[in-house]
Amino acid sequence: MNELKPVVFLDRDGTINYDAGYINDIDNFIMYPYAAQAVRMLNINGFLVVVITNQSGLARGFFTEDTLSEIHNKMVQDLKKQGAEIDGIYFCPHDPNAKVEKYKSVCSCRKPETGLIDMALKELNIDKSRMYFIGDKHSDIMAGYKSGCKTIMVKTGYGKGDLINKSHKWEVKPDKIADTLLDGVKLILKKQI
Ligand SMILES: [Mg+2]
Repeated sequence: MNELKPVVFLDRDGTINYDAGYINDIDNFIMYPYAAQAVRMLNINGFLVVVITNQSGLARGFFTEDTLSEIHNKMVQDLKKQGAEIDGIYFCPHDPNAKVEKYKSVCSCRKPETGLIDMALKELNIDKSRMYFIGDKHSDIMAGYKSGCKTIMVKTGYGKGDLINKSHKWEVKPDKIADTLLDGVKLILKKQI
């Protein structure tokens, strides 16, 4: 039995990379300059790093799974070049009103649901008492909260706007708010969350 490790689940768009709407081309995928440093710090400190991302652009026919794989390969390779490793990437392709029939589903994996996290929990050796979720939307915070993660909302992507405009409506508040992914990671490593 492998040793159980703590995990940080990361949203992708608006957390790791600039949120350019539905990213349908590899050239629109641009990581924040601190992303690799943040992931590397988690690697060094023994955390698993797992990306949990809604990609309903697949269901809407905006891009294919081949394009998504190409983008994720680029992300993994670019991070690796900077000494940072991702332990898993889980994506939800669904949408209840999908144009693409095979992705048409009211699923249990689209955040704020927890299906993607559940999958990661089955496949990886995760210490369930030490789980964190970092994301820029309330749906990230909800998915993390429902799975038993401590949650951090970043102000990049949709974060800042959602905090200003929508936070009064939220069912669950994030445990912490951080300016960026890197600041969120520092909170975890300094045990400030
Ligand atoms: Mg996001």
